[in-house]
Amino acid sequence: MPGKWEAVIGLEVHARLLTSTKIFCGCSPAFGAPPNTHVCPICLGYPGSLPVLNRKAVELAVRMGLATDCEVHPRSVFARKNYFYPDLPKGYQISQFDRPIATNGRIGDVRIRRIHMEEDAGKLMHHGDGSLVDLNRAGTPLVEIVTEPDLANADDAVAYLTRLRQVLMYTGACDGNMEEGSLRCDANVSVRREGEELGTRTETKNLNSFRYVGRAIEHEIERQIAVLERGGKIDQETRLYDVATGETRVMRSKEEAHDYRYFPDPDLLTLDVEPSQIEEIRRALPELPAPRAARYQRDFGLSVKDAEALVVTKALAEYYEAVAAEAANAKAAANWVRNEVLRVLNEEKVELEEYRVTPSMLARLIKLIDSGAIGGKSAKEIFDDMSQSGEAPETIVERKGLSQISDPSAIREAAERVITANAAQVEQYRGGKQQVFGFLVGQLMKETRGKAKAELANAVLRELLDR
Ligand code: ADP
Ligand code: MG
Ligand code: ZN
Repeated sequence: MPGKWEAVIGLEVHARLLTSTKIFCGCSPAFGAPPNTHVCPICLGYPGSLPVLNRKAVELAVRMGLATDCEVHPRSVFARKNYFYPDLPKGYQISQFDRPIATNGRIGDVRIRRIHMEEDAGKLMHHGDGSLVDLNRAGTPLVEIVTEPDLANADDAVAYLTRLRQVLMYTGACDGNMEEGSLRCDANVSVRREGEELGTRTETKNLNSFRYVGRAIEHEIERQIAVLERGGKIDQETRLYDVATGETRVMRSKEEAHDYRYFPDPDLLTLDVEPSQIEEIRRALPELPAPRAARYQRDFGLSVKDAEALVVTKALAEYYEAVAAEAANAKAAANWVRNEVLRVLNEEKVELEEYRVTPSMLARLIKLIDSGAIGGKSAKEIFDDMSQSGEAPETIVERKGLSQISDPSAIREAAERVITANAAQVEQYRGGKQQVFGFLVGQLMKETRGKAKAELANAVLRELLDR
């Protein structure tokens, strides 16, 4: 009996670094400008122009290396990767090859083999029977983050990418915008029978959404298994994912790495970063999502799910922590932020930064509940009102008359009115008919228009009836 099929996956992610200029020149790397307006002799690859390395890009790459537990190397080297393509005017791409800036890291259980810096190429746009080239993107700073083949299925791959994207955004290295191509993924996939050697892999290029990554991997696994079961063999090749059909197809057979004839770029010095600078960058790193979620579980007693949902972005985590601190109730804060705040943001397509309900407003609402000033049902109503009107919770309580009566004397007065008005039932109760008590509580709630605090209403009524 042959063993079961299993898949082996390794990912290569290109992330655009958030700098204000390109990696080797002063042009803007902003997305979406009219074609060929952000170009100069350096990024157009004119002979004789000299690249000058962007310091900020280096700092961001170091940050990513540290944030993924890599060894960051004080010396790395830029090489020329030679190939011809119309979007690459120099005829080579400047990239790090055998001496990348960072190696041997991890995100969770997924090992990161290397992180290297490189420049992006331009972009081809196909129009009818011709093609146009936009070189705005040429020279945009990238890091390429390469994993070991540690992933076993599409879901694991997407989970890794989700975490990687969070780290990129937390560190400020990348804006994570997949629609604009700030994050692109190549998926290497092979299959084998359990316990066998690694199979031959294919590489599916330029997947620009998590959904496409997942689907391309699933399709590729199925396709490879079908080929092998038919007695065929897998060719090491580069494939494209076709969004329309959900299938991958051949783009080109794989060039060997040495075809690129890498050699150190003679126009650039070795990249040297002082170990003290690396340490400085390490000290300035923000608390990252994984340790932050662990802290929420440990210190606030949150569930894994709650904790993970709250650290998805730095802004959300900061919002949550501000609510929890002011409300002095971390669990209630977690429930409100996860269930209500995220729901409204999602429904109304607003960003947290523009959201009307500030952390302090939500915290004060939670305090009103915890102190018994308002009931749970009113709280939801007040929250929705805050989301719409942007008014303070206290103002809304006043305006809507939602304050729950927790003043014993007010309840006592109401209870006395109920007793006078329901003499017959009071008589029955005092004669031993306990069930009538529920009716009298109902009358008291009616008298207070539902705003009496339930325990207090019960206690006051009993006291008056039993005396
Ligand atoms: P290259 O640089 O030529 O693309 P690498 O050997 O550096 O090739 O691997 C690139 C990616 O492919 C890495 O993420 C690695 O984990 C993954 N990979 C390598 N071998 C396999 C395999 N047999 N199956 C799946 N993924 C693989
Ligand atoms: Mg590759
Ligand atoms: Zn330029």
